[in-house]
Amino acid sequence: MEIMDMRGLTAVDVVAGIKNGDISCEELISRIYERIDRSELNCYITLNRDEAIEEAIMVDRNRGAYRAKKLLGVPVAIKDCISTAGIQTTCASKILTGYVPPYDATVIEALKREGAIIIGKTNMDEFCMGTSTETSYYGPTLNPHDHTRVPGGSSGGSAAAVSAGEAILALGSDTGGSIRCPASFCGVVGLKPTYGLVSRYGLIAYANSLEQIGPLTTNVRDAALLLEVISAKDERDSTQVKIASNSRSNYVFKDGYGDVKGLRIGVCREFLEGVAPEVEEAVWNAIYSFEELGASYEEMSLKYLKYALAAYYIIAMSEASSNLARFDGLRYGLRLDVDADWHTTFSRIRGEGFGEEVKRRIILGTYALSAGYYGRYYLKALKVRTLIKREFDAALRYYDILAMPTMPCVAFKLGERIKDPLSLYLADVNTVPVNLAGLPSISVPCGACNGLPVGLQLVSGQFEEDKIINAAIAYESNLRRDV
Ligand code: GLN
Repeated sequence: MEIMDMRGLTAVDVVAGIKNGDISCEELISRIYERIDRSELNCYITLNRDEAIEEAIMVDRNRGAYRAKKLLGVPVAIKDCISTAGIQTTCASKILTGYVPPYDATVIEALKREGAIIIGKTNMDEFCMGTSTETSYYGPTLNPHDHTRVPGGSSGGSAAAVSAGEAILALGSDTGGSIRCPASFCGVVGLKPTYGLVSRYGLIAYANSLEQIGPLTTNVRDAALLLEVISAKDERDSTQVKIASNSRSNYVFKDGYGDVKGLRIGVCREFLEGVAPEVEEAVWNAIYSFEELGASYEEMSLKYLKYALAAYYIIAMSEASSNLARFDGLRYGLRLDVDADWHTTFSRIRGEGFGEEVKRRIILGTYALSAGYYGRYYLKALKVRTLIKREFDAALRYYDILAMPTMPCVAFKLGERIKDPLSLYLADVNTVPVNLAGLPSISVPCGACNGLPVGLQLVSGQFEEDKIINAAIAYESNLRRDV
């Protein structure tokens, strides 16, 4: 089979095609790199070209012996905050430029075990801090649907790569929306797993209590397949929840998926506040479509949601200020020839190595954790977090899933918000509550406004990934209007 257009190709197709000899893995990988070479989008920081092509040749030679591998020969793009042995990993920061990890993250080991091929490391907001991929030291990534607009963030390179056919699958990380926001802006599927499902070993930490690694794909079935692979058990992440193997099969793709008869959907009013009218309309149309397929919906309210954004930013910045203390220029990355005492050297390196947004957050986080303010800000934010979690849990005992717009707007113009950090933080209003509560959620494309994709977010209870995957498949296979 001649590989004509990568954009129509799913991981499920690739695996089947390689196994039965219809697709040459070497040709597929070369075509991916040709696309990347021609692209203006700036999706990648580092490419893994030589190794990837060598591995593709091995896959073609041994496809018989490798039959059991779930991702045989599938080209995967990896967000640059996930450690890859032998491949530079920068978090899109000057301070980590040149850092080559000596080990693979657990999710990378899992991908390799299942025969996936790593294409390269994708662009992102520096240390995952942002909503637009504009805080990268390596320059912004462009939105594939409109090159004058942002791809969303912080996993903007991963989402844009999948959307533009520069990878078939991608991994991102989501602390407060970083998988779902770029999925929404680039018109792809993004899934944030339940906190504790996927090992974070080898993920360079921004805010440990909030983040998870997850899939960015062109379709829901591929997201389920990738999630199945990366949620492998790992003793090295003590926050990975030990769940029984029968509930692990909850997020393994099942052929019966796509039936939403009797499904109860909660539509929370607070998630519709301040949403652009054309985005709200697209989301309501999606909800009506679920109704046509036999689900029912009800409007409801979550009264603590209005505190979620403030609580999130206090917690995320506090954790970041402590996590980023390890970047001292002595152990990793950037080195400067400073002839001074340790304090001066440390300040000079951090002053030069970190970008403005990262410094802003370290300062605010340090402030929120300092004596006298700890109780007033950090502890209070933790209490709000508990209230939000309880409120979600109660709602999800009654409703199977909640539905809302992923983002309150479509992709905005490059440069439009970067000078005003608060306007960027506000864009996260619908994504951060889910991280505070540790719940799984998915963003699926639900139409477009003036050619720009809109994302529908579905949320379910802890470890109930099967419910959102099932509903997203129903929507995608029956009703999805491609953008
Ligand atoms: N935009 C949010 C932030 O800047 C979320 C980022 C993320 O999920 N990593 O913190």
